[in-house]
Amino acid sequence: MNGLIHIYCGDGKGKTTAALGLALRACGSGYKVILAQFLKSWNTSELNILDKVENVLILRSKKPGKFTWQLNDEEKAALKIENNRIFEKAIEVISCDKKILIIFDELIGAIEKNLIDKEAVVDFLKTKPLHAEVVLTGRNPDGELLGLADYISEIKKIRHPFDSGVKAREGIEY
Ligand code: ATP
Ligand code: MG
Repeated sequence: MNGLIHIYCGDGKGKTTAALGLALRACGSGYKVILAQFLKSWNTSELNILDKVENVLILRSKKPGKFTWQLNDEEKAALKIENNRIFEKAIEVISCDKKILIIFDELIGAIEKNLIDKEAVVDFLKTKPLHAEVVLTGRNPDGELLGLADYISEIKKIRHPFDSGVKAREGIEY
């Protein structure tokens, strides 16, 4: 079965959780799952479970404990190198497994902020091994990324409690 490319985008809550839901389904069907997460500076609760699941490999770039707009040029350059390394590592693993799902969580945000080499990503998407199923998440994919996707699912915010002052809640948002 040929693998396809998914994008979960938009300003509503649920992009990462949708990707994790697909990971659960694929894993249940015998897929190996690679979850490569970008721009996350703290652990999210799903890792407590996924760490224990055979056939799931988690790769994370460590973001300094600051917002990306607070990083100086040197910190940005270092983060870009780290993100490129995580990306390369993820695609290295793909080669042999027949059933593989690879989730690049918030890769779209990393591209938008120039914190990863976009060309390498586009090149991979254009030439990826046929069998690999790929998911990208992030709010605002550009036209080039959208053009490469087979599924594009936009999650649109109708309402979010953050806007009325409710802070992120453990187990729900992280
Ligand atoms: P989730 O991880 O809950 O599925 P997401 O992947 O769609 O959310 P991101 O853009 O990755 O959302 O946002 C990172 C964090 O901000 C998450 O904790 C998410 O729940 C929360 N969030 C998502 N959308 C909004 C929004 N419109 N306003 C405020 N917080 C949001
Ligand atoms: Mg997310």
